[in-house]
Amino acid sequence: MNTAPRDPRIVIVGTGFGGVCAAIQLRRAGFSDIVILERAGDVGGTWRDNDYPGCACDVPAVLYSFSFAPNADWSSVYCGHDELYAYLRRTADRYGLRPLIRFGSEVTGMRFDEAAAVWEVSTAAGETLVADVVVNSTGTLSRPAVPRLPGLEDFEGTSFHSADWDHGHDMGGERVAVIGTGASAIQFVPEIAPLADHVDVYQRTPPWVMPRANRRYGTRERALFRRLPAAQRAVRWKTYWDFEWLARGFLGGRRAVDVYRRGAERYIEESIPDPVLRRAVTPDYDPGCKRRLISDDWYPALLRDDVDLVTAGIREIRARSIVTSDGVERPADTIVFGTGFAATDFLAPMKVVGVGGVELSSAWRAGAATHLGVAASDFPNLFLVMGPNTALGHNSIVFMIEAQVRYIVAALGHLRRSGASALQLKRSVQDRTYTQVQKRLGGTVWASGCSSWYLKQDGRNDSLWPATTVEYWWRTRRFSPKAFNEYEPRPPLGPRTAKEPAAGRPHSPEG
Ligand SMILES: Cc1cc2nc3c(=O)[nH]c(=O)nc-3n(C[C@H](O)[C@H](O)[C@H](O)COP(=O)(O)OP(=O)(O)OC[C@H]3O[C@@H](n4cnc5c(N)ncnc54)[C@H](O)[C@@H]3O)c2cc1C
Repeated sequence: MNTAPRDPRIVIVGTGFGGVCAAIQLRRAGFSDIVILERAGDVGGTWRDNDYPGCACDVPAVLYSFSFAPNADWSSVYCGHDELYAYLRRTADRYGLRPLIRFGSEVTGMRFDEAAAVWEVSTAAGETLVADVVVNSTGTLSRPAVPRLPGLEDFEGTSFHSADWDHGHDMGGERVAVIGTGASAIQFVPEIAPLADHVDVYQRTPPWVMPRANRRYGTRERALFRRLPAAQRAVRWKTYWDFEWLARGFLGGRRAVDVYRRGAERYIEESIPDPVLRRAVTPDYDPGCKRRLISDDWYPALLRDDVDLVTAGIREIRARSIVTSDGVERPADTIVFGTGFAATDFLAPMKVVGVGGVELSSAWRAGAATHLGVAASDFPNLFLVMGPNTALGHNSIVFMIEAQVRYIVAALGHLRRSGASALQLKRSVQDRTYTQVQKRLGGTVWASGCSSWYLKQDGRNDSLWPATTVEYWWRTRRFSPKAFNEYEPRPPLGPRTAKEPAAGRPHSPEG
């Protein structure tokens, strides 16, 4: 076996929190042959695309940021998308990532060449890059979902999704229809209500909402964070445990769910005097089953005379109106879709082909089985950031991303040291992890009977991590070589952009 260290050619896809984190940490660990592909024109992911009015994080920014890149200048506890976007741009600049990034490069597919043990990564521009390792970080909330509503194509007004906000469009004097009452809608409805003539909010299921209690950081506080970083670290630490505590309810603690429900019901009672509206905003499922939301201005917005909450289902969209199942027709000049994202089709629409010609979309049809959301057995040397079963209902995704990236860096360190061509997750390990994850999810609040974007159409939950983030951190803190098989070494590395002639047995899609 060739044990000389070598520098694998790494392609990272995506430049949200995940891709930026992976690039920084891989470079810190001494990996230098890195190309980052990003379909858009800038870094930022979620925070570049979601610039709708009122868009903000719902985990405090001190925690919803990298542990290795603290920012003393957050303006408020829950800051807006503009600050998070600026933070990601600044961080990418500070760590010198821009020269590595190819903007406007949309990856359309990847194929593992088994004989050469390399990935061929294809872009929409027709380019093929050869990589030893691919780190995919294309995000789970990066493809807006618009429901197929009868007649939508006949609508003659303006319509757009919240993640694709039409800032050139003036809503002044308009009747605006908002479809959806999820995390984005409850942020932008209070912002557009004063601008439009009237807003109809079409709700399928009400969310549980708790007060956000946002506040601005004072100049003294910010000066303290700047001069004494340990003070901000202490706030981060406390915030982390406050949020981690919420896991008790989500993971099956009945008492915690009841306490949360009572608090949220009290908030409804205090906010909404009208019993009919109160009933309409009160969910009939356990808090946490759908994503928990926080807002101080959602209920006040619904109380406005120029805002109506419509709970009847949408039957049909007409040229300038929306008709609901009760036969009522309401005029609409603009439709804004606050309908979320295609969150359960991981890596779609990319065509990812692994060992034996297995396509990822079909391999995961009956369950997106992975080991800790980071690796899957038919796809050697493909590492995932925010892969299946790693999303959270209660804490910062950035914490999970950092844990995953630590694991991936350790895996590549092992790859480099061992001289192996590729690491392939053992199927037995994958089966064990996936079975365990699914079993544990059965006892959580997410399996308590509501429909949510966490679940696939068949009710399977391939989205969420079923335990605490502490446990995730613990299980990813060390790379375990025993979970992987090693490929035999292959001939010396060739140029990155020209496809290498396959060594050993010829490539065939059937393997
Ligand atoms: C409005 C909103 C608010 C949120 N608030 C919070 C919060 O408060 N706390 C929290 O923990 N989480 C929050 N989230 C979840 C959030 O998505 C994650 O926290 C995190 O930003 C995900 O980072 P990511 O890098 O995995 O994905 P993304 O940020 O989605 O980045 C993916 C990147 O990949 C690129 N890409 C996608 N496909 C391709 C392709 N085929 N080729 C090339 N490039 C591609 C995209 O353009 C994008 O830049 C929020 C999400 C939304 C939408």
